[in-house]
Order: sequence, then C-alpha cells, then structure tokens
Amino acid sequence: MSNSGPLFLPATSLDEALAAKEANSAATFIAGGTSLIADRDAREPAGYISLRRIRALQEIERRTDGLFVGAGCTIAALLRDPLVASASLLVEAGRATATRQVRSRATIGGNIAVALPDRSFGPCLLALEASVHVHSREGLRAIPLELYLNDRVKAAETTAPEILVGVTVPYTGGRHHYSRIAADNGGGYATVSVALLLDRERHVVRIGLGGAGPTACRAHEAEAFAAEALDCKGGSTPPSLAAKIGEIAAQHCDPPTDLSASSAYRRHAVGVMVRRALEEAWEATR
Ligand SMILES: Cc1cc2nc3c(=O)[nH]c(=O)nc-3n(C[C@H](O)[C@H](O)[C@H](O)COP(=O)(O)OP(=O)(O)OC[C@H]3O[C@@H](n4cnc5c(N)ncnc54)[C@H](O)[C@@H]3O)c2cc1C
Repeated sequence: MSNSGPLFLPATSLDEALAAKEANSAATFIAGGTSLIADRDAREPAGYISLRRIRALQEIERRTDGLFVGAGCTIAALLRDPLVASASLLVEAGRATATRQVRSRATIGGNIAVALPDRSFGPCLLALEASVHVHSREGLRAIPLELYLNDRVKAAETTAPEILVGVTVPYTGGRHHYSRIAADNGGGYATVSVALLLDRERHVVRIGLGGAGPTACRAHEAEAFAAEALDCKGGSTPPSLAAKIGEIAAQHCDPPTDLSASSAYRRHAVGVMVRRALEEAWEATR
C-alpha cells in the first residue's frame, strides 16, 4: 500500500527526531498540535515529526538550580503536579491558557517554542528568569529564555534543527502577579499581559511583558529604575513611583498593531498594568 499523504513520524528519541528533521527539512516538529494546526495556513503541510513519545521531554523534577519542566509536559499535567503548585506564576500561566480540553494536549514547549507575544508562558517565565534547554547536533545547551525567544523570532527556516527539551525555573521568594487583557472576555490569546515578581528581601523587581514586542520581553529599564527607586525596607511606596515604573515600561516596549489592538492601546495598557501589578504585589508584602 503506498502512502501518498504527508509524512507523520512519531519519534521516540531526541536523536531520531533530529535525524528525521535533517532528512525532511520542510517537515515540522509537533507536540500537542493545538497551535500548529490552528495557526497553519492553507498549504498542504510538508510533514510532521511528533515529539509526544519522547520520554525525556515529559519530566518534572526538582533540581539544585530550580524546578525542571520538560517541554513535552501538557499544561494539564503541569497543573496537576504537586511540585508545580509552589511556582505560582507557572500555575497562573497554565490556568490562563485556553480551555481544559486544549490544555490536555497543549504542551509548555509548544507554547514557548512558537515565540509569539500573545502566549501565556513567556512573560511569566521571563519574570522568573527561567532558562531553557535545547538539543541540537552540537548536544544539549542551556540558555536564558530571553535569548532563546529573541533567536526564535530572528531564526531563518534554514537554521539547524533544534528541539526544546525543557525549562528550568529558579526557586524564588517574594510575591508574584500575573494579569492579562484578552479579546475573548479575558480568555484566549492575550492582547497584553504582565507578569511581575517583587522580592523585597532581595531588592528585586522583574517584569515580563506579552503583546509588547515581537515576542515576550523583559521590561529591563523599568526593572532597573524600580531597583534604584523603591525603598524595599520601607512600609509604603508612593503611587507616583509605581506610575513612573509603569510609564518607563510603556516607553521602552515595542508593541505591534494588529486586528486585536493598536500599538498605542497596548503601550497604554502596559503602563497601567505594570503600575497595578506593582501596587498589588507591594500591598501583599507589607
Ligand atoms: C482554542 C485555542 C485556544 C488557545 N488559547 C491559548 C491561550 O489562551 N494562551 C496561549 O498561550 N495559547 C493558546 N492557544 C495556543 C496553544 O494551545 C498553546 O500555545 C499550546 O501551549 C501549544 O502547545 P502545543 O504542544 O499544542 O504546540 P504545537 O502546536 O504542537 O507546536 C507549536 C510550535 O512549537 C514547535 N514545537 C513544539 N514543541 C517543540 C519542541 N519541544 N521543540 C521545538 N519546537 C517545538 C512546533 O514545531 C510548532 O511550530 C490556544 C489554542 C487553541 C486551539
């Protein structure tokens, strides 16, 4: 019997998946398929290399440098795992993603690898200063998530194939906040999202943004100003300071205009949401 349909290869190891990609460069990796199939254009797909059977991608474990979550973990599995329960921003990102049905197939790896600014995990993982583990012919390497996302945005189709193996989320203290605006009454893809970590003991403020650039990004300038200006040992923070930090985040981001919202709307939303995130996190740690 001849098989004239597109290739579908269920790989069982990282090396098998890489070899299949090298042999069929126009084929694409697929995990849950919830993003790839929904976003695909009308062309006949050149083929799929499924990553779902690769056990190395399914692990969730505590490691010395943080919580490791395999790229192939579904969001439903993530939300059920007791180890993840303590990482509140991961839980928030998971709950904010799609519906229960979609979450039972959708993976964290697919959410990150697509590097789109409207996805849920990018901003949260950036605020947590997560790093990702990537497997290629050169072996396994760990890189900061921020670098990975920026590289994915710039990457040409011809880039050597690589598989996202997982993400390490450093253990943090302090207070987390995640909020989003989405067209579908708060559900679905985010028009703008803000994740914030405030750790007053370590004098750290980290801000991840979605919908504020070509991919999820850090608000570095606002973070640096906050670290200088906030009196973390003090009892209160003037509302004008939180507003200023929001303004700086808005000023330095690069939001797109699309069917969901204009760049100006998104920029305004970033300013307001960062201010509110900081005020809420500050209040909660008084
Ligand atoms: C109805 C609906 C609602 C949705 N709502 C949301 C939402 O609210 N928020 C949100 O963030 N997303 C949403 N999504 C998008 C999607 O479900 C998620 O982003 C999901 O996490 C994608 O994971 P996946 O395993 O299905 O990825 P796939 O579709 O399998 O893959 C997505 C991309 O990532 C690549 N990829 C996947 N895994 C790897 C890997 N390990 N290494 C290298 N490349 C890889 C694939 O080649 C592909 O390009 C929604 C989707 C649907 C259908």
